[in-house]
Amino acid sequence: MTDPTDHAAPAPDDPMAVLEASLKPYRGRFATHDRLPAAGRPREEVLAELRAMAQDESPKWREGHVSGAVYQGDPEHVAFLAEAYTIHSQSNPLHLDVWPSAAKFESEIVAMTAGMLGADGAGGDEIVGTVTSGGTESIMLAMKAYRDRAQQRDGIATPAMVVPETAHAAFDKAAHSFGMRQVKVPVGADERADVAATAAAVDGDTCVVVGSAPSFPHGLIDPIEELSELARERGVGFHTDGCLGGFVLPWAERLGAPVPPFDFRLPGVTSMSADTHKFGYAAKGTSVVLYRGAELRRFQYFTTTDWPGGVYCTPSFAGSRAGGLSAACWAALVTIGEDGYLEATREILAATEIVKAGIREIPEIELIGDPLFVAAFRSDALDVYRVMDAMGERGWSLNGLHKPPAVHICITRRHARPGIPEQFVADLGAAVAEVRDEPPKPGGMAPIYGLAASVPDRTIVDEFLRTYMDTWYRP
Ligand SMILES: *Cc1c(COP(=O)(O)O)cnc(C)c1O
Repeated sequence: MTDPTDHAAPAPDDPMAVLEASLKPYRGRFATHDRLPAAGRPREEVLAELRAMAQDESPKWREGHVSGAVYQGDPEHVAFLAEAYTIHSQSNPLHLDVWPSAAKFESEIVAMTAGMLGADGAGGDEIVGTVTSGGTESIMLAMKAYRDRAQQRDGIATPAMVVPETAHAAFDKAAHSFGMRQVKVPVGADERADVAATAAAVDGDTCVVVGSAPSFPHGLIDPIEELSELARERGVGFHTDGCLGGFVLPWAERLGAPVPPFDFRLPGVTSMSADTHKFGYAAKGTSVVLYRGAELRRFQYFTTTDWPGGVYCTPSFAGSRAGGLSAACWAALVTIGEDGYLEATREILAATEIVKAGIREIPEIELIGDPLFVAAFRSDALDVYRVMDAMGERGWSLNGLHKPPAVHICITRRHARPGIPEQFVADLGAAVAEVRDEPPKPGGMAPIYGLAASVPDRTIVDEFLRTYMDTWYRP
């Protein structure tokens, strides 16, 4: 057995060069615009360039070879969303007097999502919410609401959030942005939140406890019932992060899959996030945050009464927003309907069963837990990041995880089509055999992932990530 952190692959000469190469496929192919063109270019010419770029990029996701990322992607559905957006492309919900349709779309998106997530079984409590720009914003807004309530109502100077270490990075971003204390609780050996350790981490400054349904890394559902009961007993809020699972688990439950309780039917769940732009099959740029009771939602809002620009209020972080995205989201929800979500979920669960069975057949790798629609695997025998690279050579774009080193595929409707899960399993078998039997190839991301996962000095990794973003914004 080799230590999976002991990477046999050659260290990259310049990790940034590898990343830079991946970001710059168009160098020299199209005109570079690092200044505005002196004369505007013809629309047709620009549209042709846009089409060429999309043409290059689309086969990978269209053929169902990318983990997560595109959750629906059928050409007819994509064209329908684009048309809905186009019809309302000038709408800005900041000006409801001009675009009252935006309020209709957004209030109904929230109501439909709440109804799906147990609003009728919420013990008579009203479930309210807002539309946001994505899962990160939904989570950040909820955390801000808990912080502001704790400060204003309870006089807690530095409110704390208690989160399992597998919770999404958006909770770190919220803690960092809002000056909250974040207590990260190690998960159990099964990669799910540890209830006893969570209980021990709650103190007088805690304003919210968090659980994922399911978590991004391993697709496993935390013990939400126990965690939310614990929060309720201690008189603090509980947020279920349903960004990934919010539009899958309700339907999986109806289909008879083993889905533990996770939504507002649990009395301790006081807020949830659910991403319409993932398994809601809307276009990128919308999500929903929900609260038990209108009082908590009021702490999310921003208002100012003294600005010379007039009295001003926004429900979320942005000022002006794309009302067209809400129109397209609403159009997705009402055209798909319960029958559409049930059918999509049935196909996704079936595809995942094929993938899980295939992973279990490969002795060198191990499926983590028993997930419903995300399949993560690790390995004691091989460098799992080299398996990811070998899958990359076979056209697959998978997600590298760390702590522990692992790789996952999030199964979407792109994968739930005949032959795709079987192809994944066959390619994975071949990729594992290649890594087992052949010497490491130069290049690839494995050394970078290995380094990022194992280097003890995290400031080196932090620097690297900042340089990566500098590279992103260099024309
Ligand atoms: C995707 C995801 C988020 C964040 O969502 P974005 O839309 O990428 O901002 C949060 N939590 C989980 C579990 C997710 O999968």
